[in-house]
Amino acid sequence: MNIADDLKKTTRLNEEPSLPTIVGFASILIVSGIFVVFDFSSKLLFLVNATISLIALFQTHSSASRKRQRLEDFQRIQAEELREWQARWQRLYQETQDATSALVRMRDGVIMIGQDYQVLLINPAAKRLLGLPESLDMTKRPFRDSVRYPELSRAMNAAYQGKGTQKLKLEIQDGEIKRPLKLRVDHFGAISDNHLLITVRDETESHRVDAMRREFIANISHELKTPLAAIKGYAETVELAINDDPDAACHFMKQIHGQCLRLERLIADMMQLARAQAGTGNLNLSDVSITETIHESLKSLQHVAESKNISLVFNPPKEPPIVRADPEALLTICNNLISNAVRYTPEHGNISVSCKDETEYWGLTVEDNGVGISETDQKRIFERFYRVDKRADSSDGGTGIGLSIVKNLVMTLGGVVRVTSRIGEGAKFQACIPKSPQGHKIA
Ligand code: ADP
Repeated sequence: MNIADDLKKTTRLNEEPSLPTIVGFASILIVSGIFVVFDFSSKLLFLVNATISLIALFQTHSSASRKRQRLEDFQRIQAEELREWQARWQRLYQETQDATSALVRMRDGVIMIGQDYQVLLINPAAKRLLGLPESLDMTKRPFRDSVRYPELSRAMNAAYQGKGTQKLKLEIQDGEIKRPLKLRVDHFGAISDNHLLITVRDETESHRVDAMRREFIANISHELKTPLAAIKGYAETVELAINDDPDAACHFMKQIHGQCLRLERLIADMMQLARAQAGTGNLNLSDVSITETIHESLKSLQHVAESKNISLVFNPPKEPPIVRADPEALLTICNNLISNAVRYTPEHGNISVSCKDETEYWGLTVEDNGVGISETDQKRIFERFYRVDKRADSSDGGTGIGLSIVKNLVMTLGGVVRVTSRIGEGAKFQACIPKSPQGHKIA
């Protein structure tokens, strides 16, 4: 029983004391009658009448105010209860809204099946993943009318029969796209309810990552196997030649040394790539001057350019080009772009390094007049292990990872990298790095 009922009862009980009011008035009449009949003194009659009237009036008044008080309490409690119910209803409505919008926005498909395979609920993701039109109304209709996969039907039957959670994989042809799906069918509620919950997950991304991992392992094995095989071959030759032909042995020793350096470079590059792909969490962002970074890079690469009689010049901009970057990452970007330009530019060539204001970015540009890159290769040179010259023993010493590191680092810093080139005429690489919000000053 609620408070309001309780109160109504109490109010009714409290109405009963109004009886003395009636009794009071009746007494007045009776006593007055007695006095009239027996002719008592009129003073005494007046006194008695007045007393009784006062008592009756007081009684009437106090009963009325009690009633009013009770009514007010009752109304107040009713209003409180109403407010409480409204709040409860609002909470319930909000929870339902949240659950519905979560279900609608979910990337995984959710389907609830009731008795006789009837669809109780299906979210948009489930329709999309199963290749069904979004407008298709499936509620209260048999699931099998729209979706017919024997494996799924078997799994649903098994789940209906209480054989536990059923897991299966399907590959769905949706127009041009082949979509790998992972499904799970769960029975829930009492067996008599026969409700099923089907969850559908798109496995395209994880299949892609798996394929990438497999490709990476294949690439890396190939890259490591080649220098290792060369080292093994040279070492066997050295062993044979060491007594009879020390000069040949010395030559092969140098080859072994060269291959060891290549292995070292490969491992260093792979570690740098892993760092570049790890995201901003691995970088220490601060305001960095591109000019200073380029000077630092030129210090180590100028002598290599000189050894090939290449003119390597840097034209710093008037304004100091301050970017928001990790100093080490910026140096890696500069080193890779400039060393590539030196590597792929023949003797007596020209390389110019510059920095251009690109509104929100500073564009670090390295331009050479070297061998250039064909349009087909331009599309692939940023891929890991992609080399235009596929010969493993190519004298350029490239690992095919440098530009992949550059691309990943620039992207992690929030920038873009592009290339323009014509075969035989040279190449121009531009890495655009976001400017520092502080402008020209280093914070
Ligand atoms: P690598 O270690 O082989 O240089 P990169 O990832 O740095 O690997 O470069 C990939 C490929 O792009 C190279 O094999 C090379 O053929 C080409 N490339 C890069 N920079 C230049 C350039 N400045 N001029 C011509 N080709 C270039």
